[in-house]
Parts: sequence; C-alpha cells; structure tokens
Amino acid sequence: MKKCSLVMVASMVIGFANAQYEGPDRPKLVVGIIVDQMRVDYLYRYWDQYGDDGFKRLIKDGHFCRNTHYNYMSTLTGPGHASVHTGTTPENHGIIANDWFLRNNGKTTYCALDTTVKTVGYDGSRGKRSPTWLRSTTIADELELATNGRAKTVGLANKDRGAILAAGRMADAAFWYVGGDEGKYISSTWYLEDLPDWLKTFNARNLADEYLNGTWETLLPIDQYTQSIADDNPYETIMPTKERPVFPYNLKEIREEKGNMGLLHYTPFGNSFTVDMAIATIDGEEMGKDDECDMLALSFSSTDKVGHYFGVTGIETQDTYLRLDLEIARLLKHLDKEVGEEEYLVFLTADHGGPHNPNYLRSQKASSGFIQFVGVKTVAQEALEKAHGPGQWVLEVINEQVFLNRDYITQRGLDLGRQQQLVADAIIEMDGIMKAVSAYTLNTTDYNDGVMELVQNGFDQERSGDVMFVTDPGYYPWEKWYKDKGSDHRAPWNYDTHVPLIFFGKGVQPGSSIREMYITDIAPTIAMMLSIQEPNSTTGKVIPEVIKRIK
Ligand SMILES: [Zn+2]
Repeated sequence: MKKCSLVMVASMVIGFANAQYEGPDRPKLVVGIIVDQMRVDYLYRYWDQYGDDGFKRLIKDGHFCRNTHYNYMSTLTGPGHASVHTGTTPENHGIIANDWFLRNNGKTTYCALDTTVKTVGYDGSRGKRSPTWLRSTTIADELELATNGRAKTVGLANKDRGAILAAGRMADAAFWYVGGDEGKYISSTWYLEDLPDWLKTFNARNLADEYLNGTWETLLPIDQYTQSIADDNPYETIMPTKERPVFPYNLKEIREEKGNMGLLHYTPFGNSFTVDMAIATIDGEEMGKDDECDMLALSFSSTDKVGHYFGVTGIETQDTYLRLDLEIARLLKHLDKEVGEEEYLVFLTADHGGPHNPNYLRSQKASSGFIQFVGVKTVAQEALEKAHGPGQWVLEVINEQVFLNRDYITQRGLDLGRQQQLVADAIIEMDGIMKAVSAYTLNTTDYNDGVMELVQNGFDQERSGDVMFVTDPGYYPWEKWYKDKGSDHRAPWNYDTHVPLIFFGKGVQPGSSIREMYITDIAPTIAMMLSIQEPNSTTGKVIPEVIKRIK
C-alpha cells in the first residue's frame, strides 16, 4: 500500500500522470511537418530573428523535445521520412537509403520508384512512384485502418520520396512537385486515377512560374546576417549565370540554365509553394472539417537543396529559415481559421541534419575531409585480388556499403563471411574511415550502444551490403552533385542525427524536455494521442512528457 502511493506521488512529481482516460478524443487534423535537412541548432542560431508566430509559437505553446536524435545510419531523406512515420528504422521498414543496389539484377533502385504505376497529372515519368519498397505501416496507414478508411490522409512535399514515404501505402493521396517545364504537383496511379479538380485549378495558377520570375534578395538587410559568414566565401556552390555565390539571385536568368521550374527546389520559394499547396489541399479535401481525424504529412524540401548548395554557414541558408518561419506562421494561421485553434495537432521534425562543409571545418582547425567511394572500391577489390587472384570481386560501393560478388565467391568455393572481413580489414586503413563491419558480424552480434548500434539499426539483412563502413566525424563522401561545396549528410554523427522535435496543439502538454529521445518515438506518441494502433513495426517508445496531464 505504502509502496503504491509512493509510486503515485513519484509519477505526479515527475509529471507522467495523465488525465483519467475517457475514450478517444482525437484532433480534427494532424499535420506532421518534416523540414528537410534541419539541424536542431537552426532554432537556436536564428532565434533572435524569428517572428512570434512560426517556430517560436510552436515552441512556446507546444512541447519542445530538445534532445531528439536519429538512431540509425544512413541519415538520408528516404529513410528519414519513412522512419518518422513508421516509428522504426531501416532494419525493419526496409528503406535503407535514397538509392540502393539490387543483388538480383545488378542495378540501382530508387526508394520511391515503381515502374508498374503510371504518372497522374502530366505526360512524363516522374509519377512512376509509389511506396512499394516500404514494408511497414505509417501513422496515416493506421489512421485509415482505425477509421475504416474514413480519415482523409495525404502526403505532400516537393520531393516525391518526402510525400510518399511519409504518407505510406494506404494513404488517400500523395502529391509531389515536378520541375522542368511543368512546375506543378502530380501523383501516381498507386493513389488515384486523376488529379482532383481543386488541384487542377491550383496547378493552373502557375504559382511556381511566378516565384521563379522574381529575384531572391535577403529578407532583412544583409548586414544583419551575423549568424552566417561573409556572403562571398569559397564554401558555397556558384549558381549558373553567377560569378560569385552572392545575393541577389536573378531567378529568371538562372532558371534558363538550371532546369527551369526545377530551380524552385534551390530557393526558399519552394517552401512558400509547398504552403500554398498545403492550404489548397486542406481546403480542397476539406481536411479537419468533420468529426473524423484527418492527417496531412507535409515536408519542406527546399531547405535540403539550399543546405546542400550553401551549407550551414551560408546567408542563403539563414535566409531560407527566416522565410520558412514566416511560411509556418501562415500555415498555422490558416489552420486556426479553418480547423480551429486547439482542434488540430502538429509535430515538426527533420529527416536528418547536416554537417558543416569539410573545407570550412579545416579552416577552423577541425579534423575533417572527404572520402571517395571509388577509392573504397579499389581498396576492397585489391584486398580480395591479393588473397585469391584476379576476378570481379566487388560489384558496387554505395551508401557506405560494399557489395561483393557473392556468385563468384561461391563459385570459387570461398567463405563469404571471411571475404567480408578481409574487405573490412582493408578499408579501415583508409583515411577518413573509422569503422568497417561485415554483414556476417552484424547478423551474429547485437549492438546496444554507440555508433555500431546506429549501423545495425540501418542494416537490412536482405537489402544491405556485405561490408558497412562509417566515416570519421567531420568526413563525408565526395560526390558529383555538390563536389567540395555546401554540405552533404548521411553520417551517424550528431550533426546529422540531432534534429528538432516539437509537438503543438490538441492533447499536447506544453513544456520542454532534455531527455534523449529518438525520432522513432514520434509515431507511437502520435498513435497514443489519437488512440489508434501504433504502426506495425514501431520500435520507438511513447514520449509521456508531451501528452497532456492532470491539470
Ligand atoms: Zn539532402
């Protein structure tokens, strides 16, 4: 008896006691926001220049989980969106990267590619997309199952994978942006046969074209961007038609050289366009209007491309976040008006963070640099040649994974696990590589701590490679798109794993928490708040701190 009351007192003191359960009390609409490549410190870094109605409103009226991390490698967009919405890691949901190597045909697949479906909305192939590679259910899927399909669930992002892998397999729709000469939102026959009328009307407004006929200037006078380094610096990508990476950007001129409407991805106006579309979707689909809980899985993609081009220290990046803050305020205002304050629930997080540019870090005396996948492939091949003679021993190196020629190894009567270890032992000698582990070891060892746990959580026994490796902190692979400029993410290190997490709105206990949490905890927490089943392979844990307590 005494023990029991002590437990009750303790739970009141630490604040985990919730109100008496009185049955499901769902918000009218859940809006899950993912900001592509948002580090948690973008909230701190630009805090003084944010307005009151965007990020600060979410934080001040909501619950800010300040110590939330990705708990797997590789921290990329496809896996990030899938993990947030399934509440588990690539080990279970199967989205191990944006692109990965297929052993059965020797080709690379894309995480949202589906050649069996057709584009809806224009005459091109960018709609050959679906969640066919996704094994697990998402929050939206579980909401569909819980309401016998009455919930309206939509995924929306400029990047197709950001819309599709967040929405899931059972969602009513996912919409994504197509650039080139199109500049509009499309879908695929996985979800629907024709675009809804409201979307045809939205597309006909040609808003993307309007944004790209303008000039990107800084929102504030440029001398106020003291959280960034000088506008003209050697760490940023130089846009076509420009001689230096500096403001202003005449978008009308640049678009002619940079994929026309595709340029939208590289400007903050891509996020504005996403909010235009989110508002059109909420209104067009009448989301949050009836008693059934709906869900909008929304993702802001432009922050990622801007981050890749200009890096953590770029004025362009700072400006993109100051503008996103205003767009989030605009979205919240629309939700207040159309759904009602306290009638909707929002969470905001990111699909991964992003590192500082390695050359910039070196200029500051940090240990940093690039590694080359071709170099890894050569070292792996040479190690096996040295042991067993010539032959095509290595098929591919992609996503910090080495794929060996298993057929050839079998043909030669060699032990696969032993060859994996030979390669791991060889590549660990390379500059910038800190860990290398064989698939055999990952299949026979249970890692419960440190960076190896993250490697294991991102390892899919069927889809992943023969040897996984981890770069040193501060290092990332050099690749053809960004070369040595800007930023690139994928690591299991804090700059790529530590992301914002904010819950806001109906059912949320205001406050902030500094306990370490994981992005896989989001889905089970939302499921608990909605009184629905958590996604089917969720491994995250409910976050009690964010759920409204006894008054
Ligand atoms: Zn990215």
